[in-house]
Amino acid sequence: MKPHSAGPSPVIELRDATKSYPGGVHALRAVNLTVHAGELLAVVGPSGSGKSTMLNVMGTLDKPTTGTVEVAGYDVSALSDARLSALRARHIGFVFQHFHLAPGRDAVDNVADGLLYAGVPPKGRRRRAREALARVRLAHRASHTPDQLSGGEKQRVAIARALVGAPGLLLADEPTGALDTASGAIVMELLHELNASGTTVCVITHDHEIADALPRRVRFKDGEIVSDTRCTEPTATTEEVTP
Ligand code: ADP
Repeated sequence: MKPHSAGPSPVIELRDATKSYPGGVHALRAVNLTVHAGELLAVVGPSGSGKSTMLNVMGTLDKPTTGTVEVAGYDVSALSDARLSALRARHIGFVFQHFHLAPGRDAVDNVADGLLYAGVPPKGRRRRAREALARVRLAHRASHTPDQLSGGEKQRVAIARALVGAPGLLLADEPTGALDTASGAIVMELLHELNASGTTVCVITHDHEIADALPRRVRFKDGEIVSDTRCTEPTATTEEVTP
């Protein structure tokens, strides 16, 4: 499986991507977005504006109705389901609002699951899971099951699971939505750290405060990008970029 073109490609490229559902729902309307390696961005908008649809399309969990979506240089529409699974396993980590941890399994096993489709033998999976837990500063909770962890700790386990395969791209869907302010701040700090170590991070959020603290904000309304702003520092003057 090779990208269609040689040379460096954006991590994500959507060109005139649309997504429609039966009943005339246009969740995405001709979205154009390019995300380069190393970016840290928010996709922000009110409920129903198309953010989850956007995450599913960017994460190759869903295909656009029309237009093209390229992830890590691969045209998503051209790949079989098996190849899409391989692309996800190798390139993309996911973090969800409600953690999606397996109940009754300890933190190491939950994180090791992030390597299930990466061809790593079980012993190696557990070793790497412990390393990932140390990265999110949860080595001391390795043998705890989700019901023995706070919300913030559960989300850190989920982040460890997302990063254990060393993906180039991490997609986080409302990662602080179910957390108190202090736990949310720790989660955002971890996402910043991951980004500083080279991972491209995209945070989907309805929370403008979360979005405004990130260097790039893509604002969504009614399935369309209405603004795309960047700044080098969160507090610096922003530069409006025409979508
Ligand atoms: P957000 O994540 O911003 O809340 P969504 O992407 O979930 O927005 O939804 C965008 C629009 O698409 C909404 O009108 C929603 O009702 C609709 N929608 C989302 N998923 C489906 C689906 N599977 N079938 C039909 N309509 C859907």
